[in-house]
Amino acid sequence: MKTKQYNFEELKKEFIRLGGRALIANIMLAEVNPACHPLEAENKIIFANGLFIGTPFPCPGRLSIGGKSPLTGGIKESNVGGLAATRMSQLGLRAIIIEDTPKEEEWYLLVISKSKVEFVKAAELKGKGNYETVAKLRDKWGPKIATLSIGPAGEQLLAAASVAASDLDGRPARHAGRGGLGTILGSKKVKALVLLRPTEPELEPLRDPEELKKVTRELNSILIPKKRGMTIYGTAGMVSVANEIGGLPTKNYRFGSFDQMEKISGEALYKIITSRKGKPTEACSPGCVIRCSNMYVDKNGEYLTSGFEYETIALNGSNLLIGDLDILAQIDRTCDDIGVDTIEMGNAIAVAMEAGLLKWGDGQAVVSLLREIGQGTLRGKLIASGATNVGKVLGVARVPAVRGQGLPAYDPRAFKAMGVTFATSPMGADHTSGPAIAGRTGWDPQKDYGAISESKGKIELARELQVMVSLCDAFGFCFFVGPDRWILEYVLKAINAKFDWNFTFNDLIAYGKNILRIENEFNKKAGVSEINRLPDFFYKETLPPHNNRWDISEEQLKDFQAFFST
Ligand code: SF4
Repeated sequence: MKTKQYNFEELKKEFIRLGGRALIANIMLAEVNPACHPLEAENKIIFANGLFIGTPFPCPGRLSIGGKSPLTGGIKESNVGGLAATRMSQLGLRAIIIEDTPKEEEWYLLVISKSKVEFVKAAELKGKGNYETVAKLRDKWGPKIATLSIGPAGEQLLAAASVAASDLDGRPARHAGRGGLGTILGSKKVKALVLLRPTEPELEPLRDPEELKKVTRELNSILIPKKRGMTIYGTAGMVSVANEIGGLPTKNYRFGSFDQMEKISGEALYKIITSRKGKPTEACSPGCVIRCSNMYVDKNGEYLTSGFEYETIALNGSNLLIGDLDILAQIDRTCDDIGVDTIEMGNAIAVAMEAGLLKWGDGQAVVSLLREIGQGTLRGKLIASGATNVGKVLGVARVPAVRGQGLPAYDPRAFKAMGVTFATSPMGADHTSGPAIAGRTGWDPQKDYGAISESKGKIELARELQVMVSLCDAFGFCFFVGPDRWILEYVLKAINAKFDWNFTFNDLIAYGKNILRIENEFNKKAGVSEINRLPDFFYKETLPPHNNRWDISEEQLKDFQAFFST
């Protein structure tokens, strides 16, 4: 971005077998000084496709985005649906890397086709929300583009800024939210990437297309009926489950259940969407067979938001004592437009409520505060800097964050293996790094991983899930397909149908462990500790209504990372 030059480069030999998160980890370690400031020229932002893109494998269209996080200070990968991964593959690109920062104050679009990258000045888009930005880009370059953009939060370099990916209808409603990656794109002065659809799309080479189709057919015949609940209710189906387990964050993680839960449940969401003729079920990216996304319309049937998910609903709903889906949909829409992570915002606003900046349960005040981010007020800047910074500025100790990043909507006292992952993952507190929801096990069918809120088996479960999820992120299929042993068997068959690698199950595990080893190595050099303490209140308070406690000691976590090097 300093020289406005670009190269199309062949993938280095040592990176040929790497996709998505694996490619990001390797490039970051090889090319980025781990000690750099996240907003300085030395940091890079990397967009990398998974290895299953362009195959019939279910839900293969996730795009990994990575860099050194302004929130955690360590390596971050956040992956997102939408159309961008597919367009990149059609353009013949495994990855896009943006380097350096411009000298001038100008904003740019990167318009990418098969033969060139154009650096187009974008002064007229400065300060615009993602919705207006993408609508203007579609007006200019047509409805077949895929976009990756930032809103005003990314432009202001606020630490919780997200990168918006346009979905199949061209709406910037899918976000790589975690870790503040939109802040890095903002530091490069890139308002958006515009990926043009080539007239002759590249096709991914497949070793045995027939075998790949057969593996996919077999997998889909099990997967589609198994995920039916998710297809109907989306991830919002988790609201009632988390409430039942007693791990639904309520009033800044004081309680594990919410007395207005029924108003914000997946069932309530489904009812509202269907009665107003929205879409309860949608695919966010090509090739998705689960279709957990949705389109929420207001009382007049006008589009309000889409991809309205559990974590957004829980952290801005029960956690702030707001029991109104219409308000929560407005919060989701506002966050998407301004370009901030809904998870970080739910946590940051809870901390602000602790300090009395706004009242518990006041949904309209939340929407107004979020809008202030777009207006660049000091209060807006504070909130979009994330929960940890809000706690420091407003003098609040009860901050639900680990290593500078707000906790996703799973109370670690109830979702114990998730808590282990928050304390140990190179990604910090991120549920997608080890999604240990009820019923999930590791890869050993003989092992007893214990009940969800028991400490038994949770070190092993968290380790194994972290490896399995890293595989989802490298091969680029949505982790809702499942970081499960039985899915890995299909992943293995699909790898061997696509490539001539002759992979075994052990090779697959070694591949996943290596991703985590490299990420941990980057973090170590960045000065980020391997084990992080959860916020104090998790150690001191039991969690009503089931009185769960956080009972995993730092001693038990001590050698957690050694596993990834074996
Ligand atoms: S399962 Fe949901 S999140 Fe995953 S690709 Fe499909 S719509 Fe997107």
